Amino acid sequence: MDLQRIVEETWNELADERGSGNPARYIPALALVDPRKFGIALATREGEVFCAGDADEQFSIQSISKVFALALALERHGPGLWEAVGREPSGDPFNSIVQLEREKGIPRNPFINSGAIVTTDRFVDDRTPEQAVGDLMSRLRRMGRDESINFDEDVARSESETGSRNRSLAYFLADFGRLMNPVEDVLSVYFRQCALAMSCRQLAESSLFLPFDGTDPVTGQEMCSPSRSRRINALMLLCGHYDNSGQFAFEVGVPGKSGVGGGILASVPGRASIAVWSPGLNRAGTSMLGAKALSSIALKTGWSVFSGR
Ligand code: GLU
Repeated sequence: MDLQRIVEETWNELADERGSGNPARYIPALALVDPRKFGIALATREGEVFCAGDADEQFSIQSISKVFALALALERHGPGLWEAVGREPSGDPFNSIVQLEREKGIPRNPFINSGAIVTTDRFVDDRTPEQAVGDLMSRLRRMGRDESINFDEDVARSESETGSRNRSLAYFLADFGRLMNPVEDVLSVYFRQCALAMSCRQLAESSLFLPFDGTDPVTGQEMCSPSRSRRINALMLLCGHYDNSGQFAFEVGVPGKSGVGGGILASVPGRASIAVWSPGLNRAGTSMLGAKALSSIALKTGWSVFSGR
C-alpha cells in the first residue's frame, strides 16, 4: 500500500476546505492560530513517517495530552486509579460538571476534563508540580525522540487566566475529597500538560506505543503492558471525542483522541499511529477537517478495528 500517496491524496482532496469549523476561542491564545493550517502524519511500525501539509508545525495538543497523562498515572498507581475515575462515555460536553455531583466526584472517564484533572493529580502523586512537569517533558521527549518538545507558556497562561470552569471542576472534586494534592498545584500541571506544543509528526511518533501493544516498535521503549495499551485504546474509542465519540467511531472506526487545539491522534492497532491537525472545530470540539481526513484515510486503507482484514 502506498501510504505516502494516500496521505497526500487525502490532504489534496480536503485542502479547499481549510478554515472550516470554528477554532476554540475560550482559550484566547488558541484563537490566534491561523485557521487554514492543516497537517497529517502517519507513523508505522517500520519507523517510516508519511506526511502532508503542516505536519512539522507545532500546535497546542490540548486534550490529546490526556492519553499520555493516563498512561503515566496508571504507571504510578496501577489499576487502583480506577477507584478515582470511571470508564464510561459521558455523553456530555468535555467540561461538564453535572455528572460529578450525581456520581459523588468520580468522573465518568479520564478524557473529560474532570477525569483528566484526577489523572493529572495522580500523576503528580507525592511530587511537586515542577517535578511532575519535568518528568512529563522528559518522557515525551524520549518517546518523541525530540528534545525540542515543550509546552507553550503563553497558552498555559492564557488557559489559567480563563480557567474558571476547570477551577470549578477541580474545587468540586476536592470538596468530595477526590484530589491528593492542592487544587492550584494540580491545575498548574494540568494547564501546562494541555499546553504541550507538538507537531503531527512528533505526536504520531511518540504515540506508537498505542497501536503496538504498549511498546514503541521503532525504539523498543516500553510505555505500558499490552493489556494496558489495549484498555487505553478502548477508552479512546468510547470516550476520546467528548459527546461525539459515537460519531467518530462510526465514521472513522479506530480509537482516537481529539483536542480543542484542532489535533486528533488516532491509533490503528497493529498498523499505525496517525496525527492530524486543523484548528476549526465542530460543535462538540473535534477538528472538523481532521475527522474528515481520518475518515478518508480509513476508507482508502481499509483500516478499522471492526474489520478482520
Ligand atoms: N485545556 C482544555 C480545557 O481544559 C482542554 C480541552 C480539550 O482539548 O478538550 O478546557
